[in-house]
Amino acid sequence: MIIAVASGKGGTGKTTVAVNLALAISQKEKLQLVDCDVEEPNAHIFLKPSFQPAGTVNIPVPVVDEAKCLYCGRCAEICAFNAIAVLKENILVFPELCHGCGACAYLCPEGAIKEVPRGIGVMEEGSSDGIDFLHGRLNPGEAMSPPLIGALKNKIDPQGITIIDSPPGTSCPVVTSVKGSDFCLLVTEPTPFGLNDLDFAVQMLRKLDIPTGVLVNRADIGNNCVEDFCREEGVPILKHIPWDEELAKLYARGEPVVPNSARWREMFEDLWGQIEDALNKEKQKPGKKEVDTT
Ligand code: SF4
Ligand code: SF4
Repeated sequence: MIIAVASGKGGTGKTTVAVNLALAISQKEKLQLVDCDVEEPNAHIFLKPSFQPAGTVNIPVPVVDEAKCLYCGRCAEICAFNAIAVLKENILVFPELCHGCGACAYLCPEGAIKEVPRGIGVMEEGSSDGIDFLHGRLNPGEAMSPPLIGALKNKIDPQGITIIDSPPGTSCPVVTSVKGSDFCLLVTEPTPFGLNDLDFAVQMLRKLDIPTGVLVNRADIGNNCVEDFCREEGVPILKHIPWDEELAKLYARGEPVVPNSARWREMFEDLWGQIEDALNKEKQKPGKKEVDTT
């Protein structure tokens, strides 16, 4: 079972929720936490696992043999990302724009294109408090995060429960992170900014056909806009978390709350129960796939 924790907007407390939810259930369940926020991974700050390398991730980029090239321009025409430019007697490849789709090499009539690997980032794994932890680090300046996120997801153990800490936003890296999840918990805050990005995230998850629930963080600030939206859209709110000094102080020290507070452990165990209930309701809908919630 895969549960993604996402947020349309950065800074809502998504990683805090993902890490503490994982800690609340890791004593009872076989659990994996995958930090897919590869541009800025930070879940490890709270879990402090001892890491070991889990592989480099490459994408195949084209190299042109100009002795064979006829400058016909077909490769440039097919490339949706403008990663190849064909001039009269010259051809330019921009590897940092290339998505590694292979179309240019496949369609070159002269067989003039071969593909070479280009490293985009690394994966690291470790364990902490009964959690198998995995994250990726995108190379500095690299824009191509979805293949690294895809490689992390290929390491998901289908036998247990996996919690994915998604990147913020609603663009390609988030879609790659949440795709295939059984449920997505959206962490938001009750402000017009939170609502705006929550709306985008809910629409994205509908298109992906992923059941969704909302956690309202810092629930005592702002207004009722998130409640009104969720009621109108039929999206369940699973939990409200008010601003809390204890949580803020532990966060500032890079410590999770669950191992340090019975009150918070109970709160995140209850959140897990709410997610299981939401999944069971989803299972009962006609035409829905069966989800193993054990
Ligand atoms: S498709 Fe092949 S032959 Fe045509 S311009 Fe590109 S590399 Fe050259
Ligand atoms: S592999 Fe795909 S994205 Fe890269 S240059 Fe070729 S066609 Fe463009």
